[in-house]
Amino acid sequence: MKILIPGLIKKMPKIKLITFDLDDTFWDIKRTIVNAEINSRKWIEDRIERKIEWGTIDDFLKIRNELIKDNPALNYDLGLLRKKIISYHTQKYFRNQKDLDEFIEEAFMFFLEERHKVKFFDDVITVLEKLSSKYKLGVLTNGNADIKKLGIDHMFEFSLSSMDVKSNKPDQGHFVKAKELSQISFQNTLHVGDHPVNDVYGARKLGINVMWFNLNNLVWDIDGNPPIQFKKWSEFINLLEENYGS
Ligand SMILES: [Mg+2]
Repeated sequence: MKILIPGLIKKMPKIKLITFDLDDTFWDIKRTIVNAEINSRKWIEDRIERKIEWGTIDDFLKIRNELIKDNPALNYDLGLLRKKIISYHTQKYFRNQKDLDEFIEEAFMFFLEERHKVKFFDDVITVLEKLSSKYKLGVLTNGNADIKKLGIDHMFEFSLSSMDVKSNKPDQGHFVKAKELSQISFQNTLHVGDHPVNDVYGARKLGINVMWFNLNNLVWDIDGNPPIQFKKWSEFINLLEENYGS
């Protein structure tokens, strides 16, 4: 007769695919974007040789919401949204559409370069290197960071952005596409991210295992069942093995 020990069952290895969020999970996005924004504005002003009234954050959100109202795709197409905003601030300085379009393209490329100047949290790369020899790894991001540009793409089987799936997490688009690409079921998948709703709640709703990167010690208030959480990447592998086996 087989004796089933609950503790052992719980520790059965079952994770085959680990998917990761990027912004605020691998690096601090606010610092990255603020630097990219400051440098991009300077670049634009230098190029058109004028000071621009960029407005406050509230002005920015107002412009953003108006643009999204006109074109709902801007909700997930961050690149196009940024180009529209550059256009909003600079179009009056251009005599024709062609020159404006070229300028916007160049300004956007500059921003993208800056946006990829990220500082990884301690131990992220070491942990990913170890994991990639044992698990399939994937990226599920609502942002527009490109793992190729960051030089970490060799560790991942795939990377899906909101543009790829025409929706934002917590909608199921990213998660469903990951399953389709990897051919690994949700119950054999672990999703790791910082956002309680977009990452943890979104993945959990589908039956995906989750680990919450909770750098700022937020309180879990979504339901009475707090997820496994960690705040240092050096803790990740031990925690993974404790909870899901090795
Ligand atoms: Mg995030």
